[in-house]
Amino acid sequence: MQTITRLDPLRDAIAALRADGPIALVPTMGALHDGHLTLVRAAKRAAAHVVASIFVNPRQFGANEDLDAYPRQLARDQALLESEGVSLLWAPDAEAMYPAGYATNVSVSGVSDGLCGAARPGHFDGVGTVVCKLFNQVQPDLAFFGEKDWQQLAVIRRMARDLDLTRPHVDAIHGVPTVREADGLAMSSRNAYLSDQQRQQAAALPRAMAGACDAVRVGTNPAAALAQLVELLLAAGFSAVDYAELRDPDSLAVVANPASQPARLFVAARIGGTRLIDNRAV
Ligand code: AMP
Repeated sequence: MQTITRLDPLRDAIAALRADGPIALVPTMGALHDGHLTLVRAAKRAAAHVVASIFVNPRQFGANEDLDAYPRQLARDQALLESEGVSLLWAPDAEAMYPAGYATNVSVSGVSDGLCGAARPGHFDGVGTVVCKLFNQVQPDLAFFGEKDWQQLAVIRRMARDLDLTRPHVDAIHGVPTVREADGLAMSSRNAYLSDQQRQQAAALPRAMAGACDAVRVGTNPAAALAQLVELLLAAGFSAVDYAELRDPDSLAVVANPASQPARLFVAARIGGTRLIDNRAV
């Protein structure tokens, strides 16, 4: 596996790989876990070469967020990607990604409103900008993203269609189901922030979400089911719930009546200083 940190050598290396067939891109911020590696495995099954990227993108972190604390473990990540048969790791630093004078922003409206878009102003502009640049840099035939970040996946699908980033337009962006720990907690690089006690308390999130979805399915009033979910999380040791909402899985429009419309439950909640997100089908 080659690790490349500058754009010109990346372009040469990509041109050489492309001679063998389709290239699949797996963008990450590193601190890899089994969720990331599941994306890599899906990419490997679908393309001749997998290109992974590791870039902790400053533009998608708010001023009071965890950019400096975000775990960085490049040597370990390199070994994991190598063992999964990744052909190339693209690992630019911030200066290579955003050289002095950088001034362009990619902003996707609609699907980025609400949920994490409301709770983290500017976050999806940061995501759209960096993923647009990654697509232009690597020019992949396919790209793989996790359903763990469902709204992010919707933003990227919209952007890829709108900006003609992939060929063909449909089915080039693959969503991979969320990989979970044994107790149901979605794997996340941020789980490393949790103390042992918080880690145990965090299992209340998938449990309460499953309970709320069951309640809605059997006809409980959705507002009451969501209020009960918030109560359960606070009782379990969460310090705040940023949002708990039912939304349309594709448009992400608010769903008032899940009995007559497809709906997905989206939750962001804080435990100590750590913000966890998850989503599941009702
Ligand atoms: P990140 O490094 O957190 O930016 O994540 C990189 C990619 O991995 C994104 O497409 C995420 O949605 C995906 N991902 C993160 N956690 C999981 C998980 N538990 N299961 C599946 N995909 C995941």
